[in-house]
Parts: sequence; C-alpha cells; structure tokens
Amino acid sequence: TFVPAARVDQMRESPSVAAAQRVRELRASGREILDLTVGEPDFDTPDHIKAAAVAAMESGLTKYTPVNGIPALRVAIAKRMLARTGVEFADNEITVGGGAKQVIFLALMATVEEGTEVIVPAPYWVSYPDMVTVHGGTPVVVDCPESDRFLLTAEKLAAAITPATKWVILNAPSNPTGSVYSEQELADLAAVLDRNPHVNVLCDEIYDEIVFTDSPLPNLLSAAPHLRDRILVTNGVSKAYAMTGWRLGYGVGNKGLIAAINKLQSQSSSCPSSISQAAAAEALTGDQSFVTTSVASYRARRDVIFEMFSRIEGLEPVLPQGAFYLFVGCAGLVGKRTPDGTLLENDQDVVLFLLDHASVATIQGSAYGAQAYFRVSFATSEDVLRNAAAAVEKAVASLS
Ligand code: PLP
Repeated sequence: TFVPAARVDQMRESPSVAAAQRVRELRASGREILDLTVGEPDFDTPDHIKAAAVAAMESGLTKYTPVNGIPALRVAIAKRMLARTGVEFADNEITVGGGAKQVIFLALMATVEEGTEVIVPAPYWVSYPDMVTVHGGTPVVVDCPESDRFLLTAEKLAAAITPATKWVILNAPSNPTGSVYSEQELADLAAVLDRNPHVNVLCDEIYDEIVFTDSPLPNLLSAAPHLRDRILVTNGVSKAYAMTGWRLGYGVGNKGLIAAINKLQSQSSSCPSSISQAAAAEALTGDQSFVTTSVASYRARRDVIFEMFSRIEGLEPVLPQGAFYLFVGCAGLVGKRTPDGTLLENDQDVVLFLLDHASVATIQGSAYGAQAYFRVSFATSEDVLRNAAAAVEKAVASLS
C-alpha cells in the first residue's frame, strides 16, 4: 500500500474542493442542486484577453519563459502596484506563478520551517493553515469575532506575536467574510509591526478589484510604505478577470524573498504557462470595463442575497464590503430539530440540512475557523440566488 509522507498525511483536503465534489456527486445521482459553494466568477474570460492568448500562441510564445515570467507581465504588475499603492517596485521584487495560491505556497515554503509561527486571523481562507503545517510550521489562529468585523485588531496582533513569529497573513477583501480594513486599522497594525521587526506580512489581495465601497480599498503599503521590505503582496488575475482556469498569479515584495521563491519555482514548475502570462499582461493593461461591469453585477447580487437571507428567521447575514461571499450567522438554527427529529448540533449539521432539505449547497463556517456560520457564494445568477434563498426560507420554517 501507498504511504504518503507524514507532512502530507497531516494535511487536510481543501473543504471547498470537497464541497464542490459533493455537489458533483449529488448531481450525478440525479438531484438538482443550487450550488452556492463556488469560489470563482460565473462570467467567461473577456474576449480581448482570450485574443491576446491566441496571438501569443500564433506568434510562437509557446516556450519556457524566464522563471519570474515574461518582462511585459512584470512591467504590467509594477505599473499596477504603483498605481494602487504609490510604491515603486523594481523588476527583481516581482515574480509570477501558477496562481496566487502557488505563490503563497512557495513563499511559505521559502520561509517556514520547524518552529516557525504564522499568525492566521480567523475566519481564514481554508488553505493558509495547511500551507503552514505542510512546511513544519505552526499556524497561530487568532479568533476575530463578528464584533470586530472579523478583522485582526492591533491588540490581538500584539498578543499573538512571539519571538518565533515570522508572518502574519492579512486577506482583504476577505474570503469568507468580505471584510476590509480601514486605513486607520492598517496604520494601527503597522504600529505593532514597527515594534516587532522580525514579523513580516503576507497581504493576500486576490479580491482587491471586487469592492463595494465608494472609496478606494486601503492597503498596507500605502499606510506604511516604510514596511515595504517586510510586506509580500500576492494577487492574480483569477477573480478580477474571470481567469481562474488560466492559473496565473503574482507576488511583489522583498527581493531576497522573491529570489528564494524563484529558486523554488525553477526546481518545481520552471515557470507558469507562457500563454497565460500573455493573457494576464493584457488583462492588467488592456480595457478594464469587464471589471466595472462584473463588480456592478456582484454588488446587485450581494444586495439581493443579503436582503433575502436577512428576512429568514434564525439567520444573520453580514453585509460584505468586497469579494463575492456572504457569511451567514446560523447560531439561531443550532439546537433546532429537523422534521425527522434530527438535532442540528452545529454549522456542519445546518449545512447538511440545507443540502438535504433545500437542495442548496453552502460551506460550513468551521471550515474557515468560525463556528456557527456558513458561507454563500454569490458568484452565480440572481435567479439561482432567489431560488436558493426561497428554498432555504422554506426549509428553515420546517425546523422546530
Ligand atoms: N486567496 C484567496 C483568499 C482565495 O480565495 C483564492 C481562491 O479561491 C486564492 C488566494 C487563490 O487564487 P488563485 O486562483 O490566483 O490561485
């Protein structure tokens, strides 16, 4: 029999991948499921981006590229970073990889070893803790309750730091809550970082284009440019440009760290797909109207699903400021019984109940380190959202 290495054995399978698999199985067995688990835009990649990929193929951009990507893409990333943060980055401070996910994985591989602590505010994106443990490190999960808008406060950051802390991971807009930090909150976190020069910050900004606030999204680099050598920004084209399948992300930060990531990439994937790189360069520099129209659409859907879930007795949705997820408090349903007498003991039971009795698939908050919530994705049509909310309302009304 096959015995995986202990570090892989300890790793959990991604709960979102598992949820998607459950939906596929139920559909294969003939059930109609309203799927609110998806973590990707339902839109197609814009045509001008596809055209750039075709042009790349036709012009022979079909070979290995430099480990850190084609120069045109790094230039596009530097321009975008400058426009967003006011901070200029040199070519050797930028790398590209097979999705932001891979860049984060390699950044942690490059820096985490036995005894390294990484502060992970909860609710968190499901992959962070496992990406720390697989490299022998310890995720230090800090509970960030709804009363703090699910965000890390300066006090909690200060309390979680030890001499072994190497990273704190910030993700805004957040998956799964859609919360964003204000400029003041970032300045307060920066003040704690000033007192702890051994701590670096990984800013996962993959949803930075998908924001529903009227003012621009604050970012740590603008709030504390003097920390630039201790900040790694990761981002990509998956969410903003509906390019999840193209697998292209990037990292911007300390040149020593970027060199270490490049070394790992040179010995693993060599480089991300040349064709995806050309497409990503077009995405970042070309017509941005897709971003505007898709964000307007997410915003309208957010309002629909938030309003409908707010009316359901026992559910407490939290209005997201960005990304395309609604985090819904379900403590009001825990302790109730289903029509067949089953007790709903926790959020996992609530999610299974909604799947069985409303044919609506969601993901339990405990997968994100937060009890008594579930996550609903609104990267799907308003029709599906309305039907799902109506089905949930009916199922919830049957509880006693
Ligand atoms: N970070 C967060 C918070 C995400 O939700 C995701 C995707 O679900 C990623 C990173 C990974 O994005 P990519 O497709 O660029 O690997």
